[in-house]
Amino acid sequence: MVSGVILAAGRGRRAGGFKQFLPIGGIPLFYLSVEIFKRVGVEDVVVVLPPGEKVSLDVKTVPGGAERMDSVFEGVKAAKGEFVLVHDSARANLSLSLLRRLISTDGDLVIPAVRPPDSVMYDGRYIDRDRVLLVQTPQKVRRSLLLKAYRKAKEKDLIYTDEGSLLMGEMGVNPIIVEGERWNFKVTYREDIEILRRLKLDRHVAFGYDVHRLVEGRPLYLAGVKISDEFGALGHSDGDAVLHAVCDAILGFIDEGDIGTVFPDTDPRWKDADSSRFVEITLKEAEKRGVEVSALDITIVLERPKLRSFKRQMRENLSRLFGLPPERIAIKAKSGNGLYPGSVRVFALVELSVAKLNFHLKIPS
Ligand code: MG
Repeated sequence: MVSGVILAAGRGRRAGGFKQFLPIGGIPLFYLSVEIFKRVGVEDVVVVLPPGEKVSLDVKTVPGGAERMDSVFEGVKAAKGEFVLVHDSARANLSLSLLRRLISTDGDLVIPAVRPPDSVMYDGRYIDRDRVLLVQTPQKVRRSLLLKAYRKAKEKDLIYTDEGSLLMGEMGVNPIIVEGERWNFKVTYREDIEILRRLKLDRHVAFGYDVHRLVEGRPLYLAGVKISDEFGALGHSDGDAVLHAVCDAILGFIDEGDIGTVFPDTDPRWKDADSSRFVEITLKEAEKRGVEVSALDITIVLERPKLRSFKRQMRENLSRLFGLPPERIAIKAKSGNGLYPGSVRVFALVELSVAKLNFHLKIPS
């Protein structure tokens, strides 16, 4: 099991105060990282706060210590996992894909890093920047090693600035370095807060539509839920019009065409395919471009059966498939007033956030 330790105990001297509590779109800055951790399935999350501070949010908190490494120790002690992902809450633009990459990489110490874009001087001389790495967080560490390394460093009165330097310095651990992300920047100075606000509040809406004829002898699937055994959507795949409409919206937004070009019905791979596969592939493509789904709003037109009793299950399914809290998913069902028998129609609005600037992206104006 992997736990998350999110550091929000700093004083933010360079930003002019406690930046971790600044509201970004109504959410305290430190909580943006908590949400990302929860969305990738890290259940045990500990937030380290300045001593004496309390928050009324649904998260486990502990008071921090004098130095960053003391705060890490307090957080890691309270965490339960065999591994911990230690993260500076100031890197509030953390992406789902970076966090997933770290979780899926094995090793006692896994750290994300990027190359410096600027030329680098050291002690008054230029050095080869291709040999320089800028180290980010989250850093994934075996919990027992981190606790041991901390105690060793404390005995010698040594201060380390991150988990990588601590484990390399005290335990001789070789790090596994994974590619970091340039937009996983650390909010350090006042202007960084404005950059973060603009990135986090950069929301877009994409629209998707799908219609299928209903025929006898096929099951009907909507949002991954079996609605009927008697009649279902005619189609090459399982004909799940909800998942198709949502995928279509996302694929169009990221300039990948539409569901017909990405998953053509001439491809035998997609014959009777579970449409949740389409969702997985579509989300992977979106994440590659720094695009994340932040809300879904779906309208289904179906004469029968009544969808009322399926709505909760559909919502739970979409919540799991898209890694979204259920309250960000709306599903409305209409009978169509007798105008559309023999078909199922779905209209989907998808809200997307863009975590990085991307010239490949077609942004509707
Ligand atoms: Mg379809």
